[in-house]
Amino acid sequence: FRRKQPSAKELVLAIANGDKIALSRAITLIESTNISHLEKANEVIQGCLPYANKSVRMGITGVPGVGKSTFIEAFGKHLTSLGKKVAVLAVDPSSSISHGSILGDKTRMEELVKDENAFIRPSASGDSLGGVARKTREAIILCEACGFDTIIIETVGVGQSETAVHSMVDFFLLLKIAGAGDELQGIKRGIMEMADTIVINKADGDNIAKAKLAKSEFNRALHLFPAKKSGWIPKVTTCSAVYGDGIDTVWKIISDYFEMVKTNSYFQAKRQDQNQFWMMETINEQLKSNFYNHPEIVLLLESNKKAVQNNEVSPFAAAQILLETFFKK
Ligand code: GDP
Repeated sequence: FRRKQPSAKELVLAIANGDKIALSRAITLIESTNISHLEKANEVIQGCLPYANKSVRMGITGVPGVGKSTFIEAFGKHLTSLGKKVAVLAVDPSSSISHGSILGDKTRMEELVKDENAFIRPSASGDSLGGVARKTREAIILCEACGFDTIIIETVGVGQSETAVHSMVDFFLLLKIAGAGDELQGIKRGIMEMADTIVINKADGDNIAKAKLAKSEFNRALHLFPAKKSGWIPKVTTCSAVYGDGIDTVWKIISDYFEMVKTNSYFQAKRQDQNQFWMMETINEQLKSNFYNHPEIVLLLESNKKAVQNNEVSPFAAAQILLETFFKK
């Protein structure tokens, strides 16, 4: 017995009514690699757009083990206790490349999963970071249409994914721990530079003094970076995700940030820039995928690779042949 699949219109209506099951279904649809689902997926996104855009979007990054899921659980519960509706999405390209996820799956955040006002979705899979990022961005729109006013995008602080996440959020939080030599490992200067706030987690027990020391060190380090276009001065704070200490302070800092950027119009300007960026990204992705999946190109690419290897044709001439063939179609 199979239930009839809802139409795009039905899905949009249910989502706009706050139906989380419809939201899940719609996200599955946009994540589908089945080309026949593409049109319906686009229809759903288009239908949801008028209801979207009314949220704050936050990115949270940090190396594995720093306490991201523990923090998001505590932070998310704090937000729902304030009456907010929280959606947690993840960008984890490792899950598609290695078929093992660094971020783990839904079994994390056990409390938040049960919360009526929360929605948690693990990372989409895909064969490129660009593809995964685009699907996440589309999922943001659907979550917003479903009434989620606070969107959290989680990613691992290794590789390129945090740059992609930075381009889809309004606020970027870097989670760290004191000591552990992680000032030297993993987190690169670029990520520090993107952060609007650094939160030093696991500030509990014997760790409190070290966390305080790390806080003043990061404060000093942040002063060396150029001023942000938003006019915001990045903050450093400590918390214990396990004991729930300092979580309210983190939200206070974030609220101050949003108040400031909404007043000085940076919030609106940044979203407009991001929309343009995503338009260009979508074109680039689509062009590339159409090109490399074109049957004639697939054959020509193989033969030209060999010809280049054998020095029968220059790499530039070979590229030209392929591009001309494609664009003459
Ligand atoms: P993730 O890989 O960044 O998502 O990290 P997890 O949330 O899975 O946490 C990694 C480990 O650190 C787990 O064993 C947590 O219990 C522990 N942990 C997370 N937050 C805290 C904290 O605030 N204090 C202490 N002492 N341990 C924590």
